[in-house]
Amino acid sequence: MAKRDPACIFCRIVAGEIPASFVHRGATATAFLDVNPVTPGHLLVIPNEHHGSLAETRVETWAHVMRIVRRIAVALRASAFAADGVNLFVADGEVAGQEVPHVHVHVIPRTAGDGFRVHAAAWDAERPARETLDRQAGAIREAVGKRS
Ligand code: 5GP
Ligand code: ZN
Repeated sequence: MAKRDPACIFCRIVAGEIPASFVHRGATATAFLDVNPVTPGHLLVIPNEHHGSLAETRVETWAHVMRIVRRIAVALRASAFAADGVNLFVADGEVAGQEVPHVHVHVIPRTAGDGFRVHAAAWDAERPARETLDRQAGAIREAVGKRS
C-alpha cells in the first residue's frame, strides 16, 4: 500500500479527490499545474507516495521524479509556452519556503520579461575568502561522508 497522508493536498490530488490540471500521471510520479503560477505553465512534479522531505524520499523514487521533470522541462521549449528557459526549484524544509509538506519540484517556464526573478541579499555582498569556502566545503564533505 502506497504511503499516503489523508490530510495532504497533494496526496488528495494523486488520489483524484480534489481537481488538478494534469500533465503526467504515472505509477510513481504525477505532474500538474500550480494553482498559483508564477509564470504561465508553472507546474509541480511530485512522487505519488507521501514523503515530507528529500531525506524521506528513496533515491529511486527521486530519480524517477527528476526523469519526469527533465522530460517536461525539455518539452516546454516546444510547447504552446515556447519557453526560452526553465527554472527548477525545490523548497526542502519550512525555512526554505516549503509550504506543502509533500516533496515536489517546481518547473517554471521562462520567457524574456516574464517578471519572475530570484533575489538573495547576499548576492550584493562581498565574496567570502577562499579559506572560508574551503572550510565550508570540508564540513559538507564530512557530512556527506557520514551519510553515504
Ligand atoms: P512550496 O512553497 O511548498 O514549494 O510550493 C507549494 C506550491 O503548491 C505553491 O506554488 C502553491 O501555489 C501550490 N499549491 C498549493 N495548494 C495547491 C493546490 O491545491 N493545487 C495545486 N495545483 N497547487 C497548489
Ligand atoms: Zn502527500
